[in-house]
Amino acid sequence: MMKTRFPLLVLAMAVLASGFSTTSATGHEGHDHEAMQKAEKKISDTLAKLPAEDQKLAAAQRFCPMMAYSRLGAMGAPIKLTIEGKPVFVCCKGCIDDAKAGGTATVKITEKLKDASAELAKLPPAERAAAEAQKYCAINTKGLLGSMGAPIKLEIDGKPVYLCCGGCTKKAQANPAATLAKVEELKKPGMKEGHDHGDKDHADHKK
Ligand SMILES: [Zn+2]
Ligand SMILES: [Zn+2]
Repeated sequence: MMKTRFPLLVLAMAVLASGFSTTSATGHEGHDHEAMQKAEKKISDTLAKLPAEDQKLAAAQRFCPMMAYSRLGAMGAPIKLTIEGKPVFVCCKGCIDDAKAGGTATVKITEKLKDASAELAKLPPAERAAAEAQKYCAINTKGLLGSMGAPIKLEIDGKPVYLCCGGCTKKAQANPAATLAKVEELKKPGMKEGHDHGDKDHADHKK
């Protein structure tokens, strides 16, 4: 019994996954592309000042492990640490102590960020940006989008909803209003993170 049922389930999930994740980014409404491009340019200029090896590492990691929504380079040069013998970039000084205190956990998050970034990099730019803005699955809110392969995209009431895997599809569709509310919540990173990262005042991050 188990032997036949399991592969079927996997197959069904794979079909769902391929069906939804290949949906193209047609007709998404009024994004400010210019502002986005400017922000990207600023980040790439900042990262370009790092040594070549670090540029690669920071680009692969893309986000700070302590502030999962914080793009490396968006707040000035990211800071390179060595934790458990592994290079880890954090977005700002305020994240150094937490990152070190996290030890193995910090290294694990960093690895996950690298995997997720590599996966999301395969998406068209607008899709990638949308998935990165949501960051976590609307159902499994600890599931980093891209960490379980290509994220699944649904449309609920015409709004894009990203999920970590096909297994979350049914739950997302079962309660559309709650799913959309969760997406909105996830897109407000300030609500979710432990310490408050304003855009500017990193100087008075508490130690
Ligand atoms: Zn920081
Ligand atoms: Zn999932």
